[in-house]
Amino acid sequence: MRDKIVAGNWKMHKNAEETEDLLNDLINKLPSDAAVHIIVAPTFVNLASAVQHLEYTNINVAAQNMHQAESGAFTGEISAGMLTSIGVTSVILGHSERRAYFNETSELLKNKVDTALKNELVVIFCFGEELKDRQEGTHFELIEKQLKESLFHLEEKDWASIILAYEPVWAIGTGETASPEQAQEMHAFIRKTVEDKFGAGVSNHVAILYGGSVKPDNAQEIFSKPDVDGGLIGGAALKADDFVAIVQAAM
Ligand code: PEP
Repeated sequence: MRDKIVAGNWKMHKNAEETEDLLNDLINKLPSDAAVHIIVAPTFVNLASAVQHLEYTNINVAAQNMHQAESGAFTGEISAGMLTSIGVTSVILGHSERRAYFNETSELLKNKVDTALKNELVVIFCFGEELKDRQEGTHFELIEKQLKESLFHLEEKDWASIILAYEPVWAIGTGETASPEQAQEMHAFIRKTVEDKFGAGVSNHVAILYGGSVKPDNAQEIFSKPDVDGGLIGGAALKADDFVAIVQAAM
């Protein structure tokens, strides 16, 4: 049995005060004994305060991105070591917005994954097809390619620190959700692809989250599918009540 995981990607939302308010709300409203791993990913500038705020809770803090180099002359960038030095335990890599607006390629993401793992960060690796891929029937091929190009060089042991997040781009922030059947079909395909390369020991243990317009009213049905191990939540993670309801749906 794999544990369920619910992660909230706050994107470029919430200033310092709003971050504190939302965290307080979550601390008060989330069940402290939830058999669900809960992760929140505020913006870089609020990560340190979030870690401190959540110190005695069951909520972990993730970054939304990081640079692939250990350090250097990369103005404006943040390294993996900087994240771990403030207590961040995981990092989201490969989000479709990073791929689309910041030209993050599979090759670059491969390097970021390596750096993150070297620094003992858990990687929440996002990937997913665009609408045209699905319409053209090439979505399985594309998903396999994204996995192969960024993750298939890893060793079996590395997979203990990988969480996969399948996020069909056409469902992110659009209100359009993959049906529970579409999500299950793709998650089963992803698990089989991982199994073919790394064996059942890895594929049976790796968590595969679904992301794309998960809301309190659709979460339970999506999470009930056997290969869906929880969700990566965008918009609905910004409202405590919605996020709490989604966590409860995963319990
Ligand atoms: C996301 O950005 O990872 C996401 C899933 O967003 P939303 O839930 O708003 O579709």
